[in-house]
Amino acid sequence: MSLLAGTRSNRTFVPSGNIAQLRESATIAASARAKALRAAGRAIIDLGAGEPDFDTPEFIRRAAQRAIDAGATRYTATEGILPLREAIARRASEMGAEIPPGNVVVSTGSKQSLFNACFCLFGEGDDVLIPTPSWTSYYEMVSLSRANAVPVYGDPASGWKVTPAMLEAASTSRTKGVMLNSPCNPTGAVYSREELTALLEVAQDRGWWVISDEIYRAISYGDAIATSALDVASSLDRIVIVDGVAKAYAMTGWRIGWAIAPRELASAMTALQSHTTSNAAAPSQHGALAALTNREEASTSIASMVAEFRRRRDAVIAIVRGEPELDFVEPEGAFYLFARVGGDDPARDDGAAFARRLLEEHEVAVVPGSAFLTPGWVRMSYAAPIAGVIEGTRRLVTLWREINGR
Ligand code: PLP
Repeated sequence: MSLLAGTRSNRTFVPSGNIAQLRESATIAASARAKALRAAGRAIIDLGAGEPDFDTPEFIRRAAQRAIDAGATRYTATEGILPLREAIARRASEMGAEIPPGNVVVSTGSKQSLFNACFCLFGEGDDVLIPTPSWTSYYEMVSLSRANAVPVYGDPASGWKVTPAMLEAASTSRTKGVMLNSPCNPTGAVYSREELTALLEVAQDRGWWVISDEIYRAISYGDAIATSALDVASSLDRIVIVDGVAKAYAMTGWRIGWAIAPRELASAMTALQSHTTSNAAAPSQHGALAALTNREEASTSIASMVAEFRRRRDAVIAIVRGEPELDFVEPEGAFYLFARVGGDDPARDDGAAFARRLLEEHEVAVVPGSAFLTPGWVRMSYAAPIAGVIEGTRRLVTLWREINGR
């Protein structure tokens, strides 16, 4: 729902042109509805939220507590404390090109890094290609920058991934950039090294900026961790890598993300941030520093979280495979199952109707695909205790059978 539509009857507040098209986050709305029903006493299984259900590892919590006691309670440099930017740059440099800490900007979650990058790069008259389905906020961030968000639909038969030819076909002389996200929210698809290389090549040939959102990179189920654009790009001149601690380290509430960008863009993003939020919370920066520098402890906790996600993913896949006609993307990363529950007609919005019935009649919350511009689909998160994930998946299949007369 447009915020404007929701406030028309309110005489005191008339939304500015800046937010006239803004829609509330459908993923957050779905989660809020589930929480409200739960508060009213319903035993809702919430598979809507995209948030690890684990506690932040103890070594990170302790490091932040120590930092607070040692006085990390004041403003820091807008772009983040130097040791954290050095740690981010060091890890990035291990993948290939030397990245100086001056190219790193730490923000209040990777969401802010993405917004800062869009706002600094794109503007009126620019087209920005968004492989679709994609995380709901990209469309809004591009629109808030007054640029034109251009959905580029991938092929459902290959996890909705896009190819260079699809990007080229959707491009015009106004195309300024492309948003990439691997592993992908909402599909769980992961671009192979070759696929990512090919996308970066076309972007480079055409002079487009690439914003590569790699927030789920540590959560992948293949033999190796998902490929980073840093690893395969032949030039980093027009590439922004966005990452953070939220998903890999179960640190969603700490709000630390970062961008690695060419120096001039990094400076512009810092200047923008200096007028909005200033630095990300100082204790959180120290927590993130501990996460990135205590490598042994960090890799042990990431490995155990990913092993648990994999166990749930395998359980989910085993259940949905029991219904051969139910189409879904086999997740190779992140923690979502993306399943087709109806037709593509946006006017009917089968995915929203399905999600509503699943919640009201079967007490399971999922996110309707219309949030990602694919109305015939739903996204189910398996970042929840396994018993609920298994039961929720069974109920999803039950409702699908009911609707399809099986
Ligand atoms: N990018 C994607 C694809 C996401 O799914 C999310 C959160 O759900 C984010 C970025 C935001 O992460 P953060 O908590 O670091 O702002």
